[in-house]
Amino acid sequence: MKIRSRKFEGRCARHKKFNPAIDGPGAIKGGCTRCGLLLEIWEASLRLNQLIRKFDPHHDDLKRPAAEQPAHDPRQMSFIE
Ligand SMILES: [Zn+2]
Repeated sequence: MKIRSRKFEGRCARHKKFNPAIDGPGAIKGGCTRCGLLLEIWEASLRLNQLIRKFDPHHDDLKRPAAEQPAHDPRQMSFIE
């Protein structure tokens, strides 16, 4: 099963600065569906990380989830590495 090591650089064409990992749901303007989708994808990725850790706490995870390291480039959405 190969599901990790995927990098997704989705971005809303109208709100290029929106980053769900940093801005959160409160930053979605006018209920933009594209931004909403990005948020959902982000949340799903966090959930995925949690599930993998639950399944195998000793999973060889070289990098911590992006949520724990806000130091990365905020313009880039890379939650699974
Ligand atoms: Zn948007």
